[in-house]
Amino acid sequence: MAALQDFVAVVTGAGRGIGEAVAKALADEGAKVAVLSRTAANAERTAAALNETHPGSAHAFAVDVADFEAMQAIGKEVISTCGGCDILVNNAGVTRDGLCLRMGEDDWDTVIDTNLKGAFNALKAFQRPLLKSKNARIINIGSVVGLMGNAGQVNYAASKAGLVGFTKSLAREFASRGLTANVIAPGFITTDMTGELSDEVQEAAKGNIPLGTFGTPEDIAAAVTFLAGPAAKYITGQVLAVDGGMAM
Ligand code: NDP
Repeated sequence: MAALQDFVAVVTGAGRGIGEAVAKALADEGAKVAVLSRTAANAERTAAALNETHPGSAHAFAVDVADFEAMQAIGKEVISTCGGCDILVNNAGVTRDGLCLRMGEDDWDTVIDTNLKGAFNALKAFQRPLLKSKNARIINIGSVVGLMGNAGQVNYAASKAGLVGFTKSLAREFASRGLTANVIAPGFITTDMTGELSDEVQEAAKGNIPLGTFGTPEDIAAAVTFLAGPAAKYITGQVLAVDGGMAM
């Protein structure tokens, strides 16, 4: 039997990029997947692809994770459609880069509200079924930038560092209920997000990666399925960098 057979996984930001690969990998392991994304068409495209290979495995939901009320409403819909939530992957994220001296309040708020508050909003939407689950896992997608800092990303680095404190606190609060909470901290991964970087910046970045190349969304998905599965049941409160050695 597949490792995650009959468990329900909720993946935010699963309409493209890393979240899409995570949703596919979890479905490959037998999970039923709630595909959440901001744009309905993207969520529907991912869910349709999953249902082609694993019929009936995926449902699409359009929601802005930064909107507390909308997340609670979608939470109810997901739970009634999919039958619960055993694995929550908080992956939705945005960047609004710029030097701090010039950064406006909007750029700060959008990034913190999506990347950090979005994870809290999702937790509040799914905490009840998670606490009832026999395989309760929270996996938050951070960034090596949250560990190292990065010029031009005070908002993004703060949101991702915040996720580490959030996750470690959750790991302590929920350990007695058998729930684990961990962070995966990707380095540079080839997606739309890194596609926005100039060729020059991408080449310079590769110079700081011991393994010499960007990772793929599937590299992150492999770490997520490991942390979501039975082999990781004794791992909690950890930050796993998947970064080609960049942050060691
Ligand atoms: P992409 O920009 O390729 O995709 C982002 C995804 O998040 C999309 O599905 C998007 O939805 C969704 N999203 C964005 N804002 C919201 C919102 N407010 N509500 C709901 N969904 C939202 O990003 P990546 O796949 O590259 O990144 C995924 C995660 O990994 C992010 O948290 C990012 O910070 C992190 N990360 C990425 C790295 C990289 O190198 N790529 C490195 C380190 C961390 P839609 O498609 O519907 O617009």
